[in-house]
Amino acid sequence: QDKHRYSGIVEDCCCDYETVDHLNEEVLHPLLQDLVKTPFFRYFKVKLWCNCPFWPDDGMCRLRDCSVCECPENEFPELFKKPYHHGLPSDDLKCQEGKPQAAVDHTLDSKAFRGWTETDNPWTYDDETDNSEMTYVNLQLNPERYTGYTGPSARRIWDAVYSENCPKYPAEELCQEEKILYKLISGLHSSISIHIASDYLLDEATNLWGHNLDLMYNQVLRYPNRVQNLYFTFLFVLRAVTKAADYLEQAEYDTGNPTEDLKTHSLMRQLLYNPKLQAACPLPFDEAKLWKGQRGPELKQKIQAQFKNISALMDCVGCEKCRLWGKLQVLGLGTALKILFSVNGEDHSHQTLELQRNEVIALINLLNRLSESIKFVHEMGAAAEKLNEGT
Ligand code: FAD
Repeated sequence: QDKHRYSGIVEDCCCDYETVDHLNEEVLHPLLQDLVKTPFFRYFKVKLWCNCPFWPDDGMCRLRDCSVCECPENEFPELFKKPYHHGLPSDDLKCQEGKPQAAVDHTLDSKAFRGWTETDNPWTYDDETDNSEMTYVNLQLNPERYTGYTGPSARRIWDAVYSENCPKYPAEELCQEEKILYKLISGLHSSISIHIASDYLLDEATNLWGHNLDLMYNQVLRYPNRVQNLYFTFLFVLRAVTKAADYLEQAEYDTGNPTEDLKTHSLMRQLLYNPKLQAACPLPFDEAKLWKGQRGPELKQKIQAQFKNISALMDCVGCEKCRLWGKLQVLGLGTALKILFSVNGEDHSHQTLELQRNEVIALINLLNRLSESIKFVHEMGAAAEKLNEGT
């Protein structure tokens, strides 16, 4: 097998693998790591309750209560607890899943996030206006990693995502736009698998966490397409962020902490107008060539509906922490799709860019997740392949 299969231009993009690795290592990864720790980017508003619109509860979905009781009572200030406990019996919440690593750690910050307007995203399913059912989650306390969520429940979601919404590629009749939807989902799936492998519960008895290179190899590296799709998704989302640079530069990152908020703004500026990025990879993905044919508008509607379904499927994920990251990352992808395809007069209902605060939080956190995955593949990929040589 070709040892250097990840060289040359990333398929359907405008930059090569080496440049992406280099830019990520030197510029993007360090910036994004700092950005996602800022108060603005670390709280994500999300509805985590189980209301799968496609099939009845399959037995895994008991984690709404589980997550509440698994967080130690003394962890949150009294004031923060109130909104989340609203409407729930407070005394006898019983854990039904019993996997601490699968639970979401809730931290609320009533001061964070003001001043953004709410506009529906035509690509996603979530109704952001229903505030009574939303809660803020501190993403720093809930890293995406191994949770033990596996088996038929998890498989059903991925099967539904692939078979119902974006048919297996390569299929000759798929057009460019449909291939892109598949590649985005596959790239996201690769990234999720890499995060599971990079932060894995190696020994339950001693609670030992570490890298599982076997898993990374078997889930992702053995299939060159999955790695290619990861790089593709990264460049696609990066293009969306840089395309929205002027909007994102002017946006408010106010959380009530002026020192931190200035830092957030400065980091955003460094990301959006980065001279190294502009010199090495000025156009990570060229969206202008899509939706061109006569079928363009009809195709866009179809793909938009498919992506909306994928977004809705995240409510069927039976592990709360997986649902959190699934929802965040699909919203991030939906935001990238909105930026690239629903502005500049192409979609008459959304001619000027308007983003929800939560969309921007999802977008930047998604870019960071993809950047982490690329770094992990770049640094550990060779070791994982070596380990699995001849097996
Ligand atoms: P799966 O990853 O479930 O894959 C199912 C099938 O999809 C594979 O057999 C293969 O045919 C195909 N496939 C796999 N990868 C790709 C790819 N990159 N491109 C194209 N096709 C592919 N588990 C955790 O431990 N932590 C999490 O944070 C987490 N988050 C999740 C979020 C979502 C939205 C979902 C649906 C699941 C999540 N899971 C998480 C579960 C995890 O993704 C796997 O489903 C689980 O680890 C079982 O893996 P598996 O070996 O059955 O293969």
